[in-house]
Amino acid sequence: MDVVIAGAGPVGLMLACELGLAGIRPLVLERRAVARPDSPGMAINATTVELLDRRGLADRVRAGGLEWPQAHFAHLMLDPARLRERHASTVLVPQAHLESCLEARARELGAEIRRGHEVTGVRQDGSGVTVYAGGDELSCRYLVGCDGANSVVRRLAGISFPGVDAPFHGIVAEVDADGELMPYLGAHQYPGGVFTVGPSGPGLLRVSTGEFGVQGWDDEIPATVDEIEASIARLVGHDVRIGTPHWLARWHNVTRHAERYRAGRVFVAGDAAHVHFPLGGQALSTGVEDAVNLGWKLAADLAGRAPAGLLDSYHRERHPVGARACLTTRAQVALMHPLLEVSPLREVISELIGYDDVNEHLVRMAGGLDVTYAADDDRPLVGRRFGAVPLSTPDGVVSLAEVSRAGRGLLLDLSAHTAAGTDPGVLAAVSGWSGRIDVVVASPTTEIPADRLLLRPDGRVAWTGGRGDGVQGLKEALQTWFGDPAA
Ligand SMILES: Cc1cc2nc3c(=O)[nH]c(=O)nc-3n(C[C@H](O)[C@H](O)[C@H](O)COP(=O)(O)OP(=O)(O)OC[C@H]3O[C@@H](n4cnc5c(N)ncnc54)[C@H](O)[C@@H]3O)c2cc1C
Repeated sequence: MDVVIAGAGPVGLMLACELGLAGIRPLVLERRAVARPDSPGMAINATTVELLDRRGLADRVRAGGLEWPQAHFAHLMLDPARLRERHASTVLVPQAHLESCLEARARELGAEIRRGHEVTGVRQDGSGVTVYAGGDELSCRYLVGCDGANSVVRRLAGISFPGVDAPFHGIVAEVDADGELMPYLGAHQYPGGVFTVGPSGPGLLRVSTGEFGVQGWDDEIPATVDEIEASIARLVGHDVRIGTPHWLARWHNVTRHAERYRAGRVFVAGDAAHVHFPLGGQALSTGVEDAVNLGWKLAADLAGRAPAGLLDSYHRERHPVGARACLTTRAQVALMHPLLEVSPLREVISELIGYDDVNEHLVRMAGGLDVTYAADDDRPLVGRRFGAVPLSTPDGVVSLAEVSRAGRGLLLDLSAHTAAGTDPGVLAAVSGWSGRIDVVVASPTTEIPADRLLLRPDGRVAWTGGRGDGVQGLKEALQTWFGDPAA
């Protein structure tokens, strides 16, 4: 077997989709016998919505959720509409719906998902990994631990998970959108903590409390309606009834980050690699982007055409992103407590948010829009994502997302002013990578300040070229990311 994925959460399922798209049929081992009934994750941010769009999944996901064209920093409202760059809106979607969309797609693409199979043992040597699960002993070339915050794979691979546990805990519940809760819509800060009520899907509200300085609750003991209502009363100062929840769950403010994302033939992704206070969709989205970063690299390696160091670039690119998500969410929690002391600071930051640059910086940071995998002053687009830019092609106007659905690399040639086709020199340069790179010819657009762009399968810019640039730089970038050309 090529790849075993431990965990059928959103990250494991997204990875299964990415591998499936590249022709690999992974086995996903999931300890739960049935799909999860609750939906702890709710918001997915712009960058993840764009990635889902590139895979043709965004409409399915949106159908079970709501667009939320807003953003916040420590519950101080930001204004994404003031950004200069094009970007998708955050979508509020129950995690269970997202998982069911991803699971259906992963199966369509040939992944096998075995439920009721808990990974309990991992052994690896230079040539492969043996995985023990549900009484089976399975051999694979790579194992990816997408098995959540308490990852067994991470522990058995010897990857440490240092961090801090802050005394800030709470309960979250999903209820029908009626009753006494409507006047509390929004996020409310109190001296004891936070009480939020927000839409989580059509006709549904997410109710959440977070209390500072309380003892952590035991996850094994199910949360109750009485407990969350008592928590609300402690925060708000009077009783608020929430009705009968569809589900309740406890959450803890734990920030931990795996010291490395790879140990030999074992990788970790998602909550198995980083956990932090989930704010603004950063937790789930960071994990889904881990999966999209890793999938095509594993597939290239398994096909025997990965350039040297490609698999290691997963840790190199994603570890700083996980570290930043931990940092920025801790910064937000620090702006919430103790309220009497931080209130003046919150007011000052609210004033600063009035400045376009500050608003833009925080929206981009909280939504993961600022992530880049390279710092090249001469080619500032390299390493960055691209939004759903409309492209005028000989076949009509299409979005960048629409031409990315195959999950291959993409050479976007914007230098051809007519529908006649692209520069024959460029076509000759990429011909050795056919099957790995699609070529799209489009009219120039002011939104893309380059004549030619090479995009990786995860949508990141690998190379940009101007009119005067020859094809040598392009060939080098192709070799760096896609390996040697075919003979
Ligand atoms: C109360 C709460 C609210 C949240 N709200 C948000 C939010 O609004 N936005 C957001 O972005 N994030 C939110 N999060 C975080 C979000 O839910 C997680 O980031 C996300 O679920 C991580 O996905 P994952 O696939 O990495 O891990 P998980 O979703 O934890 O999935 C891991 C899977 O692995 C399985 N598993 C575990 N151990 C094994 C094993 N040994 N063998 C086989 N299978 C195993 C588990 O059963 C599970 O299905 C919230 C979390 C909580 C708890």
